[in-house]
Amino acid sequence: ISVEENRKRSMHPDLWAPVPDIMDALRRTAEDMGDEVFATWIEAGGKETRHWSFRDTWEAAGAVAHALVHDWGVQPGDRVMLCYNFSFEYFPAFLGCLRAGAVACPVYPIDPGKMEIALKKFKLVVEDTGARLVLTDNLINWIRIGCGLFYSHLMPKGLEWRVTDQLVQRPPSSHPLPPPSYDYPDRAPSDIAFLQYTSGSTGDPKGVMITYANLGANVGLIAGAQRFAFSYADLIPVMHVNGDRSWFTRSRSVSWLPMYHDMGLVYGVVAPFFMGARMHYLSPITFLKDPCLWIRLLAKKKATWAAGPDFAYRLCSKKWDAKKWPVDEYSLTHIIYMHTGAEPIQSTTLVDFNRVFRPYRLHARALSPCYGLAESVVCVSWFDPVANPPGSLIAGGDKPGYVCCAADFRVDLRIVDPDTCEEMQDGTAGELWVSGPSVALGYWNQPALTKTAFRARLSRAAPLEARPWARFGNGEYLRTGDVAFMQDGRLYFSGRLKDMMIIHGKRYYAQDIEFPAQDAWSAVRGGCIAAFSMLAEGKDEEELHLVFEVAPARYSQHAFREHVNEVVQAVRKKTGLTVFRAIAVRDRTIPKTTSGKIRRRATKEALRTGHLWVLYDSLCLLSPGK
Ligand code: ATP
Ligand code: MG
Repeated sequence: ISVEENRKRSMHPDLWAPVPDIMDALRRTAEDMGDEVFATWIEAGGKETRHWSFRDTWEAAGAVAHALVHDWGVQPGDRVMLCYNFSFEYFPAFLGCLRAGAVACPVYPIDPGKMEIALKKFKLVVEDTGARLVLTDNLINWIRIGCGLFYSHLMPKGLEWRVTDQLVQRPPSSHPLPPPSYDYPDRAPSDIAFLQYTSGSTGDPKGVMITYANLGANVGLIAGAQRFAFSYADLIPVMHVNGDRSWFTRSRSVSWLPMYHDMGLVYGVVAPFFMGARMHYLSPITFLKDPCLWIRLLAKKKATWAAGPDFAYRLCSKKWDAKKWPVDEYSLTHIIYMHTGAEPIQSTTLVDFNRVFRPYRLHARALSPCYGLAESVVCVSWFDPVANPPGSLIAGGDKPGYVCCAADFRVDLRIVDPDTCEEMQDGTAGELWVSGPSVALGYWNQPALTKTAFRARLSRAAPLEARPWARFGNGEYLRTGDVAFMQDGRLYFSGRLKDMMIIHGKRYYAQDIEFPAQDAWSAVRGGCIAAFSMLAEGKDEEELHLVFEVAPARYSQHAFREHVNEVVQAVRKKTGLTVFRAIAVRDRTIPKTTSGKIRRRATKEALRTGHLWVLYDSLCLLSPGK
C-alpha cells in the first residue's frame, strides 16, 4: 500500500474502537483451526520432537483450568506462578490460568546451577504476588536435586508446586473424549489477566497489571502490524465476522524468545495463536548454542516474519557461514517483516544483517524496528519499512545513526519535558509518553509509583492538528522513562532517562557512548558494555566510566592498553567525551537482566563495591591481569 494510504489508515477513527474479547477470539481460533498444527517444537540440531494442534493447545489449557479450579482450589483473581523449563508446555499452562480466571505470573525458570541467587529473586516475586501455587514441569525435579537437603529450608514457605505435564502432554489420540475443561464465566475486560514483570534493567522488576482489554488491544496491534499495517478495528470484523483468516494462516514464524518474557509470550505465542499462524519453537538455549539455526529454520519453514532483539541479529550476521549454508539451499524470500526491538537498535546491526542476508533474497526492506515495554503489554509502535519511503529507517541530518521506531501512530505518543510536563517541539529529545488501550492498569502493589508513572498529564500540548492521532485519548499518559525525539513525523529512540549522564553541563545517553566503543575493538562483546558517570573525588563533577566484557583470549597488559586506547579514542571522536576510566572485565560477568539487557546501575554498584572481575583497568597500571 502507498505511504499516503497507510497514513490515512493510521488516522482511522475506529482505531480506538472497543478492543477484541481476547479469550473469545482465541477460542474461536482453536475451533476454526482445529487439528491444523499450531506449534512444532524443535530441539538442538533441528530435530522436530512434538507437534501441537490449535485444538490440542486449547484443550490442554482447559484441562489446566479445570485442575486449577476443581482440584487445587483456585479462586478467581488468585495469583498463580508459572515456573517452567524452556518448553512449549508453558503456553497451555498460561492460557489455563486465564481460562480459570486466575492471574498468571510468569517467572524466569529457576536455574538449579545458581540455586541461591535464583531462589532469592524467585522469592521476591512470590512475596510480591502473594501467590500460594506454582505451576511447573520437570524443572521442579532439577530444583529438588539442586537444593538437596536444604530444599524445605530454601523454598518459600506455604507454596504448593503442581506439575502440569500430565495435563498438558496427554496425546489427544489416546483419548477419544476431550479432557474435562473449565472456563470462568464472569470475566470482565478490566480484570487482570497476568502480571508481567519488567526486565529490571534500571532497578527491581515491577509487576505490571495487564488486563484482558490490554492484552486484546496489544495482540490486535501486533496482528495489525503483520497485516500490512491494518488497524485491529479493520481486522477483527474481517477475521471474526466473515471468518476469513486467509492472510494470517499463511503467516509462519520461528521463535526462540523465552515465554516468561513479554516479547516471547505475547509477540511469540499469544498473537500467533490469535492469528492462526504456523509456528516453530526452539528454546533460547538452543538458539544461543547455534544462533544461525534460527535463520536456517526461517528459510526452511518459509517463514513470513520473525522477531528478536538487536543482539540476535548481530550474532547471526557475525556467525553466518556462507560456505556451509549456501544461497541455493536457503532462501529468505518469504519474509515480509523481521521485527527488532526490546533493546537499543544499532544501525550497524541492520546494515550488517542486510549485507549478509541479501544474497539469500532477504527483502531489502524487511527489517522493522519496534519499540515497546511491559507497561504497554509489549508493543507500542513499529516502523513499517514497506509503507515508508526507502532510506527513512535511519535518521540523517544532525542526528545520524538513530533508528526509527515509529512512523505510523496507532497509539498516542508524545515527547515531553520530564520536569515541566510540557510537550516538546519536533527535533528536541524528551521523555516519551504513551496513551492508548494497551497501557496497563499500573504496577501491582505499588499505588504511589502507579500514580506517577501511569497517570501523568500534559501541562501543555501541541495543537491537535499537529497530532491528529491524539484526539481519542483520555488525557492520562504512561511515562515510559525513555527519551526519544520526533523528526519529519518519525520517532527515534535516544536512551533511558535513568541512564542519562550530565557531564560538563551537557546530556549524554549511554548507548551513544557504548555503540562506538564496542565497534572500536572486535574483542568487546556486543551488548556487554556499560557507560555511566560517577562523581569525581573531591570535585563537584561527573566523570565518564566505561566497563566492557572482552571475549576470552590472552592479552598482555600492553596489548590491552593499545586496544583500550582505541576504544577511548573512538568515544572521543564520536562524542567529544574523555573516558575517565575504562575497564575490561571477564566475559559473562557484567550484571544483566534475565532477558539479557545490561544493568548499568548495578554495574556501577559492582564497580564501587569491588565486585567486578577486572582484566584491565586504565587507571591502574599494575592491574591484576587474571
Ligand atoms: P525495568 O523497567 O525493570 O528497568 P526494562 O525497562 O528493561 O526494565 P522491559 O519493559 O522489558 O523492562 O523493557 C522495556 C524497555 O526496553 C523500554 O523502556 C526501552 O528502554 C527498551 N526498549 C524497547 N524497545 C526498544 C527499542 N526499539 N530501542 C531502544 N530501547 C528499547
Ligand atoms: Mg522499564
